Amino acid sequence: MRKLIGVMSAVLAAALVSPVAQAAEQAVVCSEEPQDLPIHEFTDYRELQVELARLARASLGRVQVAAAGRSNRGRTIFRASVGTGPKVVLVSSEIHGNEKTGTDALLRILDYLGTSESAHAKRLRRTITFVAVPKLNPDGAELDRRGNDQSWAEVQQAFPQLAGRPPAWNYINGQQQGDDYRTKPGFDVNRDFHPELGYVPQAADVPGSPDQPGWYITPEAQALRAVYLGLKAERGKVPDVYVDLHHQGACVRQEGSNRFLDVAVDYPPLPDRFFEPGQKYAKYRDAYTKDESRQLAISAFNGMTEAGYIGTRYPHAADRDLPGQARCSFALNGTGTVLFEVRGQTQTLGQQHRERFTRAVVAGLNRMINDVSTGAVDRIDPEKFDTIPGTAGAEAFDPRLVA
Ligand SMILES: [Zn+2]
Repeated sequence: MRKLIGVMSAVLAAALVSPVAQAAEQAVVCSEEPQDLPIHEFTDYRELQVELARLARASLGRVQVAAAGRSNRGRTIFRASVGTGPKVVLVSSEIHGNEKTGTDALLRILDYLGTSESAHAKRLRRTITFVAVPKLNPDGAELDRRGNDQSWAEVQQAFPQLAGRPPAWNYINGQQQGDDYRTKPGFDVNRDFHPELGYVPQAADVPGSPDQPGWYITPEAQALRAVYLGLKAERGKVPDVYVDLHHQGACVRQEGSNRFLDVAVDYPPLPDRFFEPGQKYAKYRDAYTKDESRQLAISAFNGMTEAGYIGTRYPHAADRDLPGQARCSFALNGTGTVLFEVRGQTQTLGQQHRERFTRAVVAGLNRMINDVSTGAVDRIDPEKFDTIPGTAGAEAFDPRLVA
């Protein structure tokens, strides 16, 4: 259980004072301290199934729903696709189960693409194939926590070659973000990807480390890999775009304006120097999509900004190296990838600002889909990425919990 802290009195006090004092109070009220907060307005797993079935019917079959795999606790992971166009845009949400706006945003985009008879929607369906994997980590989502629900013993049962090895470094079996994993351990699924998509776990590769690839030991990472490989086989090329929808610290602000941000965007954290001859990513040099990823991120930022939301660059140190993230592994295979980081996770903001954040994510995704459809994204100068406002206040957020 998450511990409750006494924020209510501070909130009530803030409501009774002047706007200036209220702004000052906001800094106090905003906290990275885990709390128990309501989340019932978000789409839970049962509601997701109902809504996907409705979309399939209401779209007269334009939205096609299929199983992408099963979570470790046996929940079906869904893949919902719409459109027949040559450009494939793959988007997943809730790979971290306490980061929930992405699922709602995906359902809204599927609804528009699947049911609208507008000329714009028809053009998008003709030019784009949109593939959503909402709630990729349904076990974590139902527990309202970051990790999945899988023990190291279960991994060793599935992969006997790992017998006797210590758990992978991204195994969570203590306390994290106010959640108690001691009796229900799990993995950070977004560290379980490997750029070699046919990789089979090797004993020598665990426990591994953040700057090494993952192993596809979680059924959830396996499900997303299966969707990715299925699209590659069907189209004869990897998906053009992959977007991973996340949440981050609750108190982060836009540098310069100092306003609380809505969504930060990022390209893959893979240091340039490792693409030099003889370095660890040299073999991926030609496939890697740094420029395409930055173009897509700028497009998303423009869409959010023009719709009135507050966007930033996500902090991206030149030496940050996280190949086990889905977006990094897919970018090394030639897919342009973007990270969305909405402000606050459920243990810090609950469902507060849910509607605003969901609309911001939709605005960013819509603009990106449109720019991919028209080809406008290819004319964006990738170097302009650095002109996007930066993020302030992220240092209070645990750096182990990025993306
Ligand atoms: Zn995340």
